[in-house]
Amino acid sequence: MEPIVGIDLGTTNSEVAYIINENAEVLTDRDNGIFPSCVGIDARGGIIVGAEARNQAVLAPERTVMSVKRLMGTDTEIPMGENRYRPQEISAFILKALKARAEKVLGRAVSKAVITVPAYFTDAQRHATREAGRLADLEVVRIINEPTAAALAYESTQAEPRRILIYDLGGGTFDVSIVKIEQGVVEVLASTGDNHLGGDDFDQKIADRLMEYCTGELKLTDRDDPVLKARLKRAAEGAKIELSSAPYARIEEDHIGKRGSKVVHLSYELSRNDFEEMIEDDLARTMESVNKALKDSESLPSAIDKIILVGGSTRIPRISEMLEEKFQRMPHGEIDPDLCVALGAAIQAGREMGLDSSGILLDITPYTFGTSALGEVNGVPTHHQFVPLIRRNTKLPTARTEAFYTVYDDQEAVEINVYQGEEPIALDNVRIGNYRFELTKAPQGSIILLNYDLDLNGILKIQAVEKKTGRKINAVIENAFSEFSEEAFSESKERIAALWAEDEEPAAGFSEEIEADKLNMPEDIAETLNLAKSKLDGAPEEDRDEMINLMEDIRDSVQSGNLEEAKRQQAELDDILFYIG
Ligand code: AMP
Repeated sequence: MEPIVGIDLGTTNSEVAYIINENAEVLTDRDNGIFPSCVGIDARGGIIVGAEARNQAVLAPERTVMSVKRLMGTDTEIPMGENRYRPQEISAFILKALKARAEKVLGRAVSKAVITVPAYFTDAQRHATREAGRLADLEVVRIINEPTAAALAYESTQAEPRRILIYDLGGGTFDVSIVKIEQGVVEVLASTGDNHLGGDDFDQKIADRLMEYCTGELKLTDRDDPVLKARLKRAAEGAKIELSSAPYARIEEDHIGKRGSKVVHLSYELSRNDFEEMIEDDLARTMESVNKALKDSESLPSAIDKIILVGGSTRIPRISEMLEEKFQRMPHGEIDPDLCVALGAAIQAGREMGLDSSGILLDITPYTFGTSALGEVNGVPTHHQFVPLIRRNTKLPTARTEAFYTVYDDQEAVEINVYQGEEPIALDNVRIGNYRFELTKAPQGSIILLNYDLDLNGILKIQAVEKKTGRKINAVIENAFSEFSEEAFSESKERIAALWAEDEEPAAGFSEEIEADKLNMPEDIAETLNLAKSKLDGAPEEDRDEMINLMEDIRDSVQSGNLEEAKRQQAELDDILFYIG
């Protein structure tokens, strides 16, 4: 049977996938299968594609073409080296490279493909895509919409009719679609988005912040130095990716420039909170598109059966949170969001070949793992709020770090409980580990970083780090996936119930937010306190102490009912916050 491959011909990256042993697989060639959609002419005049072309983009932009997908279906002539090319010709080079990769991996000739395009692509853009295929000696047996492919990757075997929302945020584009799938047939009900919004914009925002630091604090003078700009942009992307699994990222770039004869190094810490603030408006715009798609498809949020995350940028945790807030259900990202569309294209290609492919093999965690902290459940303050670190259905292996805070000054220790389950109150879940972490004397609000690292075999490694001193403890739970028997479960619950009675003191606790401070606290004051808490870490030492003192004073004033004094202190704290920016 002649093979038909599935191809995601993306703006930033492309992938090729195929049905192997009844399951769709992305074809890799000593890499992770992600092939940069870049084409260039090298110094000797030869064609280069993929990572090689991307690597020369900064140094030789006149010989490199990126994001050609944006120009498909137009008459633009793209300069590259000495010549000019049509968009379909540039795309054909990418397709040729993917075809060669497939032939190498499968060990046979490949001349047919299913290719995906955005749902909004016009006839002219679809036609140009077919033409690119022909130029690359690939017969395009079918063009399918990207959201259709994503839906097939998740739901190809689902018989019941379902309505699915696909939130696709990549490097340079954002799309949201609502599709109906019934017995494997997908219909796009609505599709909208923003052609110029994506991870690249987020990188730029971080890079701008770093440039300000370099020209302000570090006193570098050449803002327009292209090498400096390129280094900051690359460092920015690295930090952004790190912040998807950790609350802080440190950006270190040696020899970033010179001040007089002195070599200058960059070392800058960015918190996830700061990053989320930077991109808040962009994310709000994506939610406006979500609302528009709901309206266009005449769907209420409650009519959506599943939310699927596509595109590398959907790994930013705030995106899942926003969608969960709106739809009251957890979005699905367990199929690698970079590969989901290619895998769906392969499933469609398998169908064209008459194969009955069962879908995609996945290693995912069957449970959510988290810890307990001081917080709120349904508006009621509790010492046992369940804070998930690794969510059910996350692809394995996975790791995640979250920041927690000590509850009072000179706290001697924190109790780290590890829970398995889904219930918002930690005590209703199963406790699978419990550790005491001795602390050094430090003011209230000191940061403790908790990291969970879960592998394919259910080995859960836990690490707690006192951020200021770097002191740490490590623990390992060997069988985190083992099903707790009913008996063990009730034993565990009894033990916890007994503890609950004893443990009304927050003594060994830690908190995720200053939620407890909201007790009888006016909303705006609680907000200022939370903002101050989020800024504490990056604040200069002298302001930090003053901030902590003011935070304590405000709390005391509120507790003693002296709101007027609390307001005055709040204004003082606001001033400092404004000053440290
Ligand atoms: P795509 O166009 O779907 O390949 O997505 C590429 C974009 O996803 C780039 O902007 C990447 O920086 C971004 N990206 C990849 N991994 C992550 C991550 N873990 N967190 C945030 N953004 C990511």
